[in-house]
Amino acid sequence: MPRADQSGLGSVVIVGGGFAGLYTALALASRPSPPPILLIEPGERFVFLPLLYELLSGELHPWEIAPRYDTLLAGRGVAWLQDRVERIDTHTRSLLTRRGRSLAYGRLVLATGAGENRFGVPGADTHALGFRNLSDVDRLRQLVEKLRHEPRPLQRLVVVGAGPTGVELACKLADLLAGAAGVELIEQGPTLLPGSRAFSRDQAQRALQRRDVRVRTGTRVHAVETDGVKLGRPDSTADTALERLSAAGVIWTAGLAFHSPTILPEPARDPLGRLLCDASLALPGDGGVFVAGDLARPAAPAGSEEPAAVLPANAQVAFQQAPLLADNLLRSLAGEPLAPFRWQDLGEMMSLGRGDACMTAGGLTLAGPLAFRLRRLAYLTRMPGLNQQLRAAAGWLAEAWPSPSSPPPSHGS
Ligand SMILES: Cc1cc2nc3c(=O)[nH]c(=O)nc-3n(C[C@H](O)[C@H](O)[C@H](O)COP(=O)(O)OP(=O)(O)OC[C@H]3O[C@@H](n4cnc5c(N)ncnc54)[C@H](O)[C@@H]3O)c2cc1C
Repeated sequence: MPRADQSGLGSVVIVGGGFAGLYTALALASRPSPPPILLIEPGERFVFLPLLYELLSGELHPWEIAPRYDTLLAGRGVAWLQDRVERIDTHTRSLLTRRGRSLAYGRLVLATGAGENRFGVPGADTHALGFRNLSDVDRLRQLVEKLRHEPRPLQRLVVVGAGPTGVELACKLADLLAGAAGVELIEQGPTLLPGSRAFSRDQAQRALQRRDVRVRTGTRVHAVETDGVKLGRPDSTADTALERLSAAGVIWTAGLAFHSPTILPEPARDPLGRLLCDASLALPGDGGVFVAGDLARPAAPAGSEEPAAVLPANAQVAFQQAPLLADNLLRSLAGEPLAPFRWQDLGEMMSLGRGDACMTAGGLTLAGPLAFRLRRLAYLTRMPGLNQQLRAAAGWLAEAWPSPSSPPPSHGS
């Protein structure tokens, strides 16, 4: 590793500008007398992933859900380096980036999140589309346009995985296709939305039924081909797969893989690759490294009688970790004891097609257009930075109140 620039030893370096990394950087920068903060993120834009479905459906625009980092961070006390961290040496407290920069850090936050996991299914890497970023949305939108403008009998899209992403995507796709192609949702497990509340599962089931989305549970995709998938029981193999289903496109949403840059010495991980940290989100040892978001697998707080629960890989966890982590970084720099992270499950929200959603929070349940509006509002308050919140709110208000030149709404609307 080239010699690191030692001037960064008093600084906090945050690796990954997703929910955990960006919100930690902003929380830390808002504290009195923050240390120098450097965010290293290869992407140009922060993508508010829970609203990616609305981008696909055209209900929201890229500027609303994917602000540029340089705009977001301007004047906020956070420097941004557009690069990818490849290796971290916790003995020397230094890191190496893909573009060959070697930097020293005082404290480091690892928040590189999770990526897709295609479980080595033959053809999945080559032939299936993903749904995690702006390019995925563009590709999928082009496919939908093609299917709408060149309808053929019995054409269909296959969505693999009936977790929240698969269910929400299947509903939006069915609405967008408006009958030009069918949508099939394939799930290996016995039920859709296994980790969700019964109310959400029930609402999702109804929403899928209303849209004629065919759901197959207990069914495994054994291979993805250029024009379809091979299906079978979860315990069968590609050779003994039972059925071949033709498809104009396959979208893979099942499973997560947790990756981080190489860390020396290699820290302990759980079987899925998440980094085992203590309840304060610090990695064991004196390397000054903290972990947050999807990549973190925190232990239970000291003295806790409950074993540590595996936290869901969702934005809500990352969002809650950010202020605690900002305070712990300051405590750590000051040599003070750290506080444990305690996850509070605030409920769940799911988009179920154009203008439709469901939510559960504080014992209340709600579904339909009002839930859709409240979901948007809830996310508005979580957008990074007041400027972005105001810009998005202005856009949504303009949409809700037509301009004087627009025709008045009909009674049925
Ligand atoms: C389509 C979709 C919809 C979702 N909807 C919801 C929802 O409705 N509600 C909810 O709570 N959660 C939702 N989630 C999950 C939620 O988005 C994630 O749990 C959350 O983004 C995790 O935050 P994170 O910071 O750990 O990781 P991420 O947000 O994934 O951020 C990781 C960042 O690290 C960067 N990075 C990766 N490697 C490196 C490297 N080597 N060096 C530097 N940077 C690197 C990446 O570019 C990325 O920006 C959704 C996810 C998806 C994909």
